[in-house]
Amino acid sequence: MVDDRVPASPSAALREISYWLDRSLSDSRRSMAFRTTARILDEMDPEEYARHRESGSWSEVPGIGPSSTAVIEAALAGRVPDYLAKVRAAAKPLTMTGHELRAQLRGDLHCHTEESDGSAPLEEMVATAQLLGHEYIVITDHSPRLTVAHGLTAERLAAQGVRIDEVNEVSPIRVLKGIEVDILDTGALDQSPAALAALDVVVASVHSKLSQDAESMTHRMVGAVANPRTNVLGHCTGRLVRGGRGLRTESRFDAEVVFEACRQFDVAVEINSRPERRDPPSRLIELARSIGCLFSIDTDAHAPGQLEFLDYGCERAQSMGIPPERIVNTWPVDRLLEWSKG
Ligand SMILES: [Zn+2]
Ligand SMILES: [Zn+2]
Repeated sequence: MVDDRVPASPSAALREISYWLDRSLSDSRRSMAFRTTARILDEMDPEEYARHRESGSWSEVPGIGPSSTAVIEAALAGRVPDYLAKVRAAAKPLTMTGHELRAQLRGDLHCHTEESDGSAPLEEMVATAQLLGHEYIVITDHSPRLTVAHGLTAERLAAQGVRIDEVNEVSPIRVLKGIEVDILDTGALDQSPAALAALDVVVASVHSKLSQDAESMTHRMVGAVANPRTNVLGHCTGRLVRGGRGLRTESRFDAEVVFEACRQFDVAVEINSRPERRDPPSRLIELARSIGCLFSIDTDAHAPGQLEFLDYGCERAQSMGIPPERIVNTWPVDRLLEWSKG
């Protein structure tokens, strides 16, 4: 069925184009350009907006390119922009299986906003999570040491918490405070215990020295898992299996020891749904299942369109027979918080 709904406004059209581009991981720079234009329009002085509308002079506005201009003009004329029609037509279901499990998931424990290396503001991530039927979403931006990703200091994290409180006052879905905290070389977490204690959910991940020897990596990961503030062990092998960031082999560690620690310390093993990660690999998901671990199926979304990636994780988890009751995002949010804050 062709979706021929006319977008409500030029910025809605631009954001929808970004959504479909991000969902297909096709072109993040192009997606960013459309999203930036949407913001320029939203923030434009109404008189200036009216003037450009009148004279069709959108291309004179700094930051608005020819593709965006065509989208704006079509949307203002009450038509579906060609670019939007094209990306809508190209959008296919992400998976053929895993839908039963997907229907049981209530939220997402791992996503990024523009505060770190995501491309959209908090409010847009929340709005999309709501459209997807989530009951909650956990915002997990990066920690200070990941400077390339503009990791949040304790002060910025606290400020984000205040904004989340504000969003929660108007949002129909729960927005939970979280972090994707770096696991330092020592196994310590890259944020103060007080800052971590103020959060609802802590995802801990290795982002550096991924190729260190197996013994050091095992110590490091077990150290993080044993930290009482850790709830989820993020993308445990760090592998990259496809895509523009190149390929990366799995980190080496004693998975039996690490997953046994996850079980003992009540930490969920993340099934990272990003198509270029598919982390952990299947044999390790099976190992964690046989050890009796909890799991969290996460998108690690860096843009609203990527919040649909839960489908990918569900396809894998369902095909590997992970019992839904051992997947923490099937739990009601109160039970989730009891577990994560307990
Ligand atoms: Zn990460
Ligand atoms: Zn992440």
